[in-house]
Amino acid sequence: MLLSDTRRYDITTKVMDPSGSAPCRIGSNEFVQGSLNDYQTVLDFGTDCDVLTIEIENVNTDALHELQNQGVKVFPKPETLELIKNKVLQKNFYQKKNIPTAPFFSFTKKAQMEQELAKSKLSFPFVWKAATGGYDGKGVSIVKTENDLSALPDCEGLIEELIPFEKELAVVCARSEKGEITSYPMVEMDFHPTANLVEYVFSPSLLDQNIQTKAKKIAEDICQQLNHVGLLAVEMFYTATGDVLINEIAPRVHNSGHLSIEGNNCSQFDMHLRAILNLPLGNTDIVLPSVMINLTGEEGFEGPVRYEGVEKIMALSGVHIHLYGKAETRPFRKMGHITITAPSLEEARAKAKIVKETIKVKSQ
Ligand code: ADP
Repeated sequence: MLLSDTRRYDITTKVMDPSGSAPCRIGSNEFVQGSLNDYQTVLDFGTDCDVLTIEIENVNTDALHELQNQGVKVFPKPETLELIKNKVLQKNFYQKKNIPTAPFFSFTKKAQMEQELAKSKLSFPFVWKAATGGYDGKGVSIVKTENDLSALPDCEGLIEELIPFEKELAVVCARSEKGEITSYPMVEMDFHPTANLVEYVFSPSLLDQNIQTKAKKIAEDICQQLNHVGLLAVEMFYTATGDVLINEIAPRVHNSGHLSIEGNNCSQFDMHLRAILNLPLGNTDIVLPSVMINLTGEEGFEGPVRYEGVEKIMALSGVHIHLYGKAETRPFRKMGHITITAPSLEEARAKAKIVKETIKVKSQ
């Protein structure tokens, strides 16, 4: 999606992905298959680039530091990636900067976690998070009772209060090198209860304007504090007591911003390019209310992908399909997304329900 927008601006691109069949291979001027975690591979890839950006945090940051030293513009900065790749460092940053977040404690080993737990004020149920390696809810567990503790891996992590939130929110903001900053109207997200994956995103949020202002301020403050360049997605919880707490941030184009392609004047992909290339930022105003559905692999199907119901939903107006071109499906793998736009959010929601029931990602 980012690459489609580079075409409109006549930007020459080179992309690296570990998989030789990655969808980006056909959207870039040059494709390199290689490990994002290997120092030399990342260094060799980046040396002839003017600007380097990422779509996944799990990249060798030593190589990014070296590229930065060599004069390549690396956005997000490697220091920011290092902070975000580790949930403990991320939470410590919020605490240090007085950004409201769920109470927590961190540990380096499971034994230390158990000792701290006995002393701490946190009680069951709570949320356990691995410090590193988590993505799309994979390093996150809700620990309900003492019995659940045995299933937790022995690694560095944190334990935080389970927030009985009313809503999960996101504000996507962008900042350019010259310091121009903007943000998209706040969206609301619904997560799949077991997969911990975003299932629906709704734009605009129907919460009070003062809550939206609070969330926007939190997001833009973080963007400034990090001296960030590019897009920054800020995920937050809205609690029954009216508080807005930060959950986590992503320094890149993000699932919560996909609906901006059709729903807002300037898409998040266009915006990210503008920000990292130090161009004027775009207009974030809503064109039409929208709902995004993540298209994920059905449970019980694995192998070469087959989409069911595509033609039926294509016959509906305001339904925009994005299939990512991944060859293989597996349960809950993100294979694409669909955005539904309508004159009102209510109509978009009703149509989204039909779309969700009609389209299925299965295997051949
Ligand atoms: P990931 O980095 O894998 O996306 P998150 O930290 O965002 O993981 O957690 C995934 C989901 O788990 C959140 O979107 C939310 O639904 C739930 N969750 C995470 N932390 C808490 C918390 N403290 N209280 C309640 N739910 C939480």
